[in-house]
Amino acid sequence: MAFVVLLACALLADRQNRIVSDQLERADVLAKVNIVRAKLEGNIAGNLRLVQGLVATIITEPDMGQERFAALAANLFQQKSQLRDIAGAPDLIISLIYPMNGNEKALGVDYRKNETQRRAAIQARDQRVLVFAGPVELAQGGLGFIGRIPVFVPKAGGGDRFWGIVSAVVDVDRLYAASGLTDPELNIDVALTGKDALGGGGERFFGGQNVIDGHPVTANVQLPSGSWQISAIPKGGWPAAPKNEWTLRALMLLAGALVVLPIMVAGRLFGERQKNYAELRRLSGRLELALEASGIGVWEHDLATDRMVWDDRVNEIYGKPADGQPRGYDDWVRAIHPEDRARAQRDFDRAAGNKSLYSSQYRLLGPDGAVRHVRARASFFQDIDGAPKLIGAEWDVTSDVLLNETLRRERQLTESKNAELNVAKAQIEYAALHDSLTGLPNRRYLDELLAENTGPNQPTALLHLDLDRFKQINDTLGHAAGDAMLVHASEVIKANAGPGDFVARIGGDEFVVMSHGLDDDELAALADRIIEQMRQPLDYRGHPCRFGVSIGIAANSGVETKQLLVNADLALYRAKGRGRNRYEFFNEELQNEIVRTKQVADEILGGLERNEFVAYYQPQFDARTLEIVGVEALSRWNHPRRGVLAPDAFLKVAEELNVVSLIDRTILEQALENFGRWNQAHLKIPRVSVNVSARRLEDKSLIEGLRKLDIKQGTVSFELVESIFLDENDELVTWNIEHIKELGIDIEIDDFGTGHASIVSLLKLQPRRLKIDRQLVIPITGSSAQRHLVLSIIEIGKSLGIEVIAEGVETMEHARILKELGCDILQGYFFGRPMEASAFKTFARSRKWLAAG
Ligand code: C2E
Ligand code: CA
Ligand code: CA
Repeated sequence: MAFVVLLACALLADRQNRIVSDQLERADVLAKVNIVRAKLEGNIAGNLRLVQGLVATIITEPDMGQERFAALAANLFQQKSQLRDIAGAPDLIISLIYPMNGNEKALGVDYRKNETQRRAAIQARDQRVLVFAGPVELAQGGLGFIGRIPVFVPKAGGGDRFWGIVSAVVDVDRLYAASGLTDPELNIDVALTGKDALGGGGERFFGGQNVIDGHPVTANVQLPSGSWQISAIPKGGWPAAPKNEWTLRALMLLAGALVVLPIMVAGRLFGERQKNYAELRRLSGRLELALEASGIGVWEHDLATDRMVWDDRVNEIYGKPADGQPRGYDDWVRAIHPEDRARAQRDFDRAAGNKSLYSSQYRLLGPDGAVRHVRARASFFQDIDGAPKLIGAEWDVTSDVLLNETLRRERQLTESKNAELNVAKAQIEYAALHDSLTGLPNRRYLDELLAENTGPNQPTALLHLDLDRFKQINDTLGHAAGDAMLVHASEVIKANAGPGDFVARIGGDEFVVMSHGLDDDELAALADRIIEQMRQPLDYRGHPCRFGVSIGIAANSGVETKQLLVNADLALYRAKGRGRNRYEFFNEELQNEIVRTKQVADEILGGLERNEFVAYYQPQFDARTLEIVGVEALSRWNHPRRGVLAPDAFLKVAEELNVVSLIDRTILEQALENFGRWNQAHLKIPRVSVNVSARRLEDKSLIEGLRKLDIKQGTVSFELVESIFLDENDELVTWNIEHIKELGIDIEIDDFGTGHASIVSLLKLQPRRLKIDRQLVIPITGSSAQRHLVLSIIEIGKSLGIEVIAEGVETMEHARILKELGCDILQGYFFGRPMEASAFKTFARSRKWLAAG
């Protein structure tokens, strides 16, 4: 409002200022105009007065001639005036003139006949007044005002008569200059209107139209007849704004500011106050709500008087009524749990003494024995009057404390459970990695260790030990004996291995020693010690148990740790192969042999695929009739590069490789096929024999396979080498032999007399035939002892009803002796070498051996 009022005042003042300034300006211009007007009036009147003087003379001398006129006029022209010329026109015809020079043309002009001059002349005559006209274009050039004065001359008899007209020409420019109109110092623009003295409404003859249109100041110029109007405006127009406008405005602004600013400041302060007050109320309301919701109580403790102010919530916490009454230090101390009291007071005293932050937690013991946990925080504060105080907050943390307690207990429980679990886990892990019988690490442990020790620079040696004769002891004396033996073995090994060596039991009767930093000699010594101690008989419940151990040693020579175990295994195999109770190192020779074996093995497998294994046939003859009674199928390998290979070139490898069974099978199949063909060709071959390896007898699916072959009773013999029966009789082998017999296949004991199998156990088999080994047969021609040996074999056979075959019959002599000794069947080079199927067919058909025999 103040602003609006001030603004209105300012506008009014501004406007007033403008009006006043306008008026002043106009008055100023008017003053200047009046000067010009006065000069104009004065000059015109002055000029005409001069002429009237002449007129007065004319009245007295109406007949004056040119000379007199010129003299008088010249006299007038002596005076200062703006007159140009004066002319006298008695009877309206110009005959008098001054100055003559330049005005000759005017002489003789008749006003009555001159259109432009007549009206003014007649008017002057008729109205008897001075007529002032102009400005007009003068006949002699230039502009001029013309004053025409009618002259009446008194008549003798009274009255007067019209004499004529005296006209005077006033020079326009000179008149203007004399009146100051053209004065360059005149700083107003002037316009004159009212040509021919016709007043304000007349034609403009001086100055610009802009003056007339520019809201001019006006004044009338009074002329002897009529008037002009003089109009004027300041040069460049009226000023748009008063000169002092901005000063005034600045002053008003200053004044306004002086009034408005304090009002604004005050208003603003007031508003601020209102706002602060509202904010304060809002804050305190919020604080109140928050305190209420959180259950936080606020207290004030005057340290000088120990008087305390508790709010409702503190009272509630301490079980006091919310009566706003002051409390004392004792009210507080008494409520604290006696066990916490001293500490709580100490906390408080320290804070009060240091004027520092106060922080404490303690229990309150209610009258009903209920315990509450509270936490308190406070700050030191000095009142305006200087009273030292602690102002603080206090709240119930019972649930927090209880929760923490529970959590702590649960955590302890979890930790103890975890500890139990860890123990259990460790036990399980230990069990997983150890052998329960001997307590030694097991195979898995070893594998993990080998996987870890992958660094090729680890100087490590591996001893792979395998107990000899363990199976027999286990089978004959029972598992308990076997177990005792294993424990004993593990102790022997541990006792001999170094303290840093790793000993594991990795299988039934297999052990491994992983040794560090021993050279070959030391390793050999270690192996020797173990073998020697293992040989010592162990007493088990009164039974002396004898067993031994074979050891394969692989020393790290830049191979991967895992490969070490493979190498030690190969060395062990070699040790077993070379007779037991010994050790072998894995070395280059063994390595090369393995490479060779591997090559042959690959070739054998390929050969089997390409059907390179074929059966050759060697006939067998009745010793008395020399008729063919059978044929032995012998395997040959049609090697693509090496030609036809005999079994000694591949059988050993095939056995190691476990493919000898495959060879046996393909030979049997070929033999059966050819056997069928021969019979179709009526060759009368009663029987075909095939060699059966020990491996094949261990084949579970052997019988099943044989059944499919549909073998006719008594037409097929299986030759089993004596050495098969050296080892303890396997149940599966026995079972297979029983079923072979049931299938109508004869069993023959091959190479009889070379092995050391007990004759008793061999004969338990009840073979159909015995084949006396050719090593026994060949010497019979030169040694009677050999003959006797062969004879006794033949007699055993006869006594048991077992036919006897002799192989290696190389000469007629052999054949004769064997016949005499009572041998049933003969087989040998003398009669025929093993030959291809087609060759055999031709041979059988030829019957040429009869001629030889
Ligand atoms: P074997 O069962 O004792 O077979 C007889 C071997 O004696 C044959 O050798 C045969 O060529 C040879 N022989 C025959 N008559 C005479 C003779 O008058 N004087 C001499 N010095 N030797 C004679 P081969 O064919 O080299 O067979 C060697 C061994 O290979 C066989 O001995 C047999 O144990 C095994 N064998 C051959 N073929 C097979 C087969 O298909 N399967 C299996 N598992 N073993 C086979
Ligand atoms: Ca044989
Ligand atoms: Ca043989």
